[in-house]
Amino acid sequence: MSAQLDLIEVKRVKALRRDLLHWFKEGRRHLPWRSVGASNFELICVEVLLQQTSAARVASIYRKFFTKYPNWESIDSAPIEKLTDEVSKLGLQNRRIERLKALAKLAVRCSGTFPVERKELEACSGIGQYLASAIRLFQHQIPEALIDLNFVRLLDRYLGYMCNSDYRYDERLQTASNLLINGGDAVATNWAVFDFASGICRAQDPKCGMCPASSRCRYSARVGGIVLD
Ligand code: SF4
Repeated sequence: MSAQLDLIEVKRVKALRRDLLHWFKEGRRHLPWRSVGASNFELICVEVLLQQTSAARVASIYRKFFTKYPNWESIDSAPIEKLTDEVSKLGLQNRRIERLKALAKLAVRCSGTFPVERKELEACSGIGQYLASAIRLFQHQIPEALIDLNFVRLLDRYLGYMCNSDYRYDERLQTASNLLINGGDAVATNWAVFDFASGICRAQDPKCGMCPASSRCRYSARVGGIVLD
């Protein structure tokens, strides 16, 4: 899936990447799975735990969860009720367990190495576009954008796309997201987007006055009655 961006959009996206990575040096959250010792297994599991809940909640169960379940085999063989108890604090436990179990089953079948091809991943039950990207990013070191509603909100406002359709099939947004991530450290850029969208470019009441990209942002310009190129 790809769409052409014009030269101005390309420049804007690259400038946003610079701003985000600069902001991230000071503004980043120190979450336990971002420590140097975290395994690919933990990073991929955490993406399931993070779905529709806060990073603080996941951090609160992180140590206990990964002490009990240190690898895919332990999740594959765990009784559903035990796993449910561990993640119930995060909500949506049935869906979460279903995804963790599906991933664990596949990981065990593949001896711990997930397929690299997106088509092959997305053909597996429980793996959608987002999890396929997370697997490719963390396990195969492919620079993939972890596109969720927060990611979309930031790019949508900044570029003025007004993306009203399903973002998974929005070619322009997908192309801009991949360009944002493809410029150096893809993991750090994804984490910068995640933290920036939670703390600065928030769903309600974005802190545009504290945003290093505000002079280039179409949303901010619209609110301030300014016309950008
Ligand atoms: S200026 Fe405001 S709306 Fe635009 S990217 Fe920054 S925080 Fe988000």
